[in-house]
Amino acid sequence: ATDINALADEYLKLAYHGMRAKDKSFNAEFKTDFDPTLPKVNVVPQDMGRVLLNLINNAFQACAMKDLPGFVSDDTKNLAGLKPLVTVSTKNLGNKIEVSVKDNGTGIPDAIKDKIFQPFFTTKPTGKGTGLGLSLSYDIVKAHGGEINVQSVIEKGTTFNITLPL
Ligand code: ADP
Ligand code: MG
Repeated sequence: ATDINALADEYLKLAYHGMRAKDKSFNAEFKTDFDPTLPKVNVVPQDMGRVLLNLINNAFQACAMKDLPGFVSDDTKNLAGLKPLVTVSTKNLGNKIEVSVKDNGTGIPDAIKDKIFQPFFTTKPTGKGTGLGLSLSYDIVKAHGGEINVQSVIEKGTTFNITLPL
C-alpha cells in the first residue's frame, strides 16, 4: 500500500524544481495540508505519481506561466494580484481518501470545462502542452476505482479533487 502524503510531497517538490529548472524567474509558492490520519491505499505508485505530477504541473503553469493565453506579463503576481500559490491537501473520508490540488491561477472558462479531459485538448502554446495530462490522469484514476473532478472560477483559480476507495 502507498502513503499518498509522502507521494504527493515528493511529486510536489519534483514539479516545483522542474519549473525552476526550465525558467529561472519562475516564482510560485506551494504549501501542503496533509491529513496525518490518511490511510495507505492500494495504488500503483508510479501511476498515481504521474497523476499528481500532471495536476501539479498544470496548477503551477496556471498561476505562473507567462506565455499562457490571457495571462500576465508579470509572473510575480497572478490575475488577482496575488502571489502564485499551489496547495496540495489530503483528507481521510472514512471509506475513501481525497487528494486536492488547488491553484490561484487563470481558472478554466466554462466553455472548455467539458473538453479538458479529452486527449490532445490543450490551450497551451505549441511545445508547452500535449493535452494528454488530464486524459491520462482520468484513465489512471478510473482504473483505480476512483473519481476525478474539477471546480474552477475564472481569474480566481482551480481545484482538482481525486477520490480513491480504500
Ligand atoms: P496540457 O497541460 O498539456 O495542456 P492537460 O490535459 O494537462 O494538457 O490539460 C488540458 C487543458 O486543461 C490545459 O491546456 C488547460 O487549458 C486546462 N487546465 C488544466 N489544468 C488547469 C488549471 N489548473 N488551471 C487552468 N486550466 C487548466
Ligand atoms: Mg498538463
